[in-house]
Amino acid sequence: MKVVKEVSVMQEISDYHRSTGRKIAFVPTMGYLHEGHASLMFSAKETGGIVVASIFVNPTQFGKGEDFDKYPRDFRRDAHICEKAGVDYIFHPEASEMYSNRPLTSVTVKEISDKLEGKFRPGHFTGVATVVAKLINIVKPHTMHMGSKDAQQNAVLKKMISDLNFDTKLVICQTVREENGLAMSSRNTYLTAEQRENAGSLYRILNEGMRQITEEKATDAEAVKARAADLLKELSPGIELQYYEITDNELLEPIPDPGSFKGEILISLAAKCGTTRLIDNIIFENNPKG
Ligand code: AMP
Repeated sequence: MKVVKEVSVMQEISDYHRSTGRKIAFVPTMGYLHEGHASLMFSAKETGGIVVASIFVNPTQFGKGEDFDKYPRDFRRDAHICEKAGVDYIFHPEASEMYSNRPLTSVTVKEISDKLEGKFRPGHFTGVATVVAKLINIVKPHTMHMGSKDAQQNAVLKKMISDLNFDTKLVICQTVREENGLAMSSRNTYLTAEQRENAGSLYRILNEGMRQITEEKATDAEAVKARAADLLKELSPGIELQYYEITDNELLEPIPDPGSFKGEILISLAAKCGTTRLIDNIIFENNPKG
C-alpha cells in the first residue's frame, strides 16, 4: 500500500492503471476510520480493481463554529485499517495541496442541498460537492463507494455526477451499526458511554416510522413524526431531535401521505446528544398495496 500526498502523483498513478485496463474503485473519507468505512473498502475490493481511499478532513465543508479543529484524526491507525482492508493507495493530501491556487470555482447542486441538513449547515453540500468533484478528477475512479448513512450527501453527489456527466458510478453500501443500533460514525468518539447507549434510540424511532408506514399504512406524515418525537422523549429524554423528515430518496421532497406512496422512502433525522450532533436515516421501498 502506498500513501500519496500530491495531486499530480495521484493523477499519474490513476492514468497508469487506466492505461493497463485496470478499474479504479474509490472510497472518499475524512479518516478516523471505523467498520463502516472498512465495509466500503471491501465493496471497492469486490470490483477486482485498484482500491484508492482518500483521507482528507475537508475544511470547506465545515461551517463556522463546527468541529473542524477538533475532528478526530489518527493517520497511523487509519493506514493500518486501510492496509488490512486491501487498499492499494491512500490519497492523503494537505489542505494547501488541495486548495493551492485561491480557488474561484465551486459546485452547487441546487435545491437538494438546501433541504434537511442544508437548513442547519448552510454551504456544507457545496463544500462536499466541490471536494468530491476535485477528488474524482484526481483519482479518476470508475466506481465510488459511499455509505447510506449520509443519504442526502449521496442524493447531492448522484445528481452532480449525472448533471456534470462524470464517468464514475456511485455504489451505495448499507450503514454499519453498533449492537444497539447506533450508526457508526467518527463523531461517536465525542460521546460518553451513557450517551452512546442512549443514542441507540435514534435507530428505534427510524424503525418505528418505517413500521407505521409499511405496516399501518400511516396516511399522515405529521402524526408519524409526532409519534417518533414522543417515543424518543420516552426512551432517551436527554436527546434533542432537530428534524425527523419523511421524503423521497431522490430530490428529498416531503411525502405528506407516506402510506399511499409507491417507491423508495427516506426517513432522516438529526439530533443533539449533549454537544454532539448525530445524523441517521432509514431507506425502504414502500408499496401501498403490499
Ligand atoms: P466520513 O469519513 O464520515 O466523511 O465518511 C466517509 C464515507 O463513509 C461516506 O460515504 C459515509 O457515508 C461512509 N460511512 C460513514 N459512516 C458509515 C457507516 N456507519 N456505515 C457505512 N458507511 C459509513
